[in-house]
Amino acid sequence: MSAGIASTLLAAWERCLLQTDTERALTLLVMLDTELSETTLRSLPLGQRNGRLLALRERLFGARMASLAACPNCAETLELNLNVADLQLPPPAEAPLVLVQDGFRIQLRLPDSRDLLHIQTLADVDAARRTLFARCCVEVLASGEPVIPETVPEVLIASAEALLAAADPQADISLDLNCPSCRHAWLAAFDIAGYLWREIQAWAQRLFNDVHLLARAYGWSEADILAMSPLRRQCYLERVRQ
Ligand SMILES: [Zn+2]
Repeated sequence: MSAGIASTLLAAWERCLLQTDTERALTLLVMLDTELSETTLRSLPLGQRNGRLLALRERLFGARMASLAACPNCAETLELNLNVADLQLPPPAEAPLVLVQDGFRIQLRLPDSRDLLHIQTLADVDAARRTLFARCCVEVLASGEPVIPETVPEVLIASAEALLAAADPQADISLDLNCPSCRHAWLAAFDIAGYLWREIQAWAQRLFNDVHLLARAYGWSEADILAMSPLRRQCYLERVRQ
């Protein structure tokens, strides 16, 4: 990791501290994935957002990701060696998302970060689901006549959720796991935003320890120490620890 990226990442860590998961994922991309504008990042379907988070993770910490999972059958702990490339899916086809069921014809769009930011304040899970559905409705017709999304029955909302999930599989990354002890097979959710944030927190704590030791030993400023390559920093740390 270059000194410039380390300094930006530390600033991003500070900004993320008091944010929600959705806000954090956006902050990290806005500050560290500068290929796209903030407006574009906010309106990326969640699968593409996760794809960019995976790519960012690879740039910051490499392609290999270690993780743990507990077998839901026998509670055995599995050590997972994941690779960014294995979790990257090609972007979904740009086909119109249309649900035709029970006399309704509903045209949908994929949910994005703006939608998650909007519903994160709703305490009621059911209200959040219905609001998300309504926001993702482009057009709702009942017997050919336009109606508001709030009139759509629950069974169709469930169908719409299934349609959207199938159209953007990377929005909810799941891992195909097998327990070596009891042979149980299951799908485990993998939250790249949460995973990356925990790594950044651990990285920031290690960096603070290093800066603390070097500043105390040599009187250097935080900026001086951050500007140093990790290799040089390590050389001085070894001497401080002798
Ligand atoms: Zn098991």
